[in-house]
Amino acid sequence: MAQKALITGISGQDGSYLAELLLSKNYEVHGTVLRTELDDPRRSLWRIYSILDQVTLHPVSIESFPSIFRLIERVQPDECYHLAALSFVSYSLDDEFAIFNTNLNGTHYMISTLKELAPRCRFLFAASAEVFGLAQTSPQNEQTPFHPRSPYGITKVAGYHLTNYYRENHKLYACSAILYNHESPRRGYEFVTRKITRGAAQIKLGLIKTLPMGNLDAIRDWGFAGDYVEAEWRMLQQEQPKDYVIASGQGHSVRELCELAFSQLGLDYHDYVVFDQRFYKPAETIPLVGDATRAHQELGWSPKVSFEEMVKMMVDVDLAELQGRS
Ligand code: GDP
Repeated sequence: MAQKALITGISGQDGSYLAELLLSKNYEVHGTVLRTELDDPRRSLWRIYSILDQVTLHPVSIESFPSIFRLIERVQPDECYHLAALSFVSYSLDDEFAIFNTNLNGTHYMISTLKELAPRCRFLFAASAEVFGLAQTSPQNEQTPFHPRSPYGITKVAGYHLTNYYRENHKLYACSAILYNHESPRRGYEFVTRKITRGAAQIKLGLIKTLPMGNLDAIRDWGFAGDYVEAEWRMLQQEQPKDYVIASGQGHSVRELCELAFSQLGLDYHDYVVFDQRFYKPAETIPLVGDATRAHQELGWSPKVSFEEMVKMMVDVDLAELQGRS
C-alpha cells in the first residue's frame, strides 16, 4: 500500500514542491487548503494546478481544533509535513495576534491530534532561521541559542519546543527543520528575491522605470525551495527523529541579488534601483547564515541549485510570464 502523506499548506511554495516530490515517490498525497482557495482554484491554487487530479485536498482551518481532528481521523497519515503558517515577519499588534493564533495553535492542534489518533505518524515541523533572530554568532547550527526578534520567530521557537516535547514525552517521531530563506519562481511577490527578479523583468520590458528598494546591504542565506523539501523528506526517513539546520551556508547581500538579476537581462541595477524608506530595515549586525553540516553528514543532503542558478531561473520565469510565454 502507498505511504500516505499529509501536507498542511500544500498550495504554498514549499507545499507545492513537496507534493511533487512525494508524488514522484508514489505517495498518496493529501493537503490542506483554505476553503476560500477552492472558489477560484486557477488563481489560488496555481502552484499545484498541474497536479490537482493527483492529490486529495481538504478544506481545513488550522486554527480550528475540530477541523484538524476530523482531518487526521479521516486521512490517518503515515507522514505529516506541517508547513502551514502565517509566514511574514511583521511587527504590528494586529498581526501579532493573528500570527500567534494561527501558528501556535495550529501546530499544537496538529501534533496533539496525531498523538491521539495516529501516534505512529512521522511529523515534521517547518521551523525557520528566524528562531536565531538576533544571533550572537554566525553561522548558526543546531546548538546555537535561540533569540527570536519577531512574533513570527517566537512562534517558530514555540513550535520547535512543542515538537521536541512530543518527541521526548510522548515518543512521537517528530522533528523540526530549521529552514533558512528558500526561494523559487513560486515565491510570493512581497519577498525580496521575487520583488527583484520580477522588477528587473518588468524594467527590461519597459513596464516600469525604477525599482524602489530598502536596505541593499542586508544579508541572507538563500537556497532553492525544491532542494529544501528534499531535506524535509529525508528527515522523516531516518531511524531516529532529529532536528536539522537546512541552509546553503552562504550569505549574499540584497545588492548582489540586484546585480545578478539585472545583469542576467543585460541591465545595470545602478540605473534602476532607487532607495525607498518604506522598505528599509536596518541590517542585522550578525548575519543569519546557516551551517548545515549535520544535514550533510547524517541525511546525505546538500543543495543542488546554486544561488546564481536560482536567480537565473527566477528571472527567466518572470520574463516568460510577463511576455505571456508561460
Ligand atoms: P525575510 O525578511 O528574511 O523574511 O525575507 P524578505 O525576502 O522579505 O527580506 C530579506 C531582506 O531584504 C530583509 O533584510 C530586508 O531588509 C531586505 N530588503 C531590502 N529591500 C527590500 C524590499 O524592498 N522588500 C523586502 N521585502 N525586503 C527588502
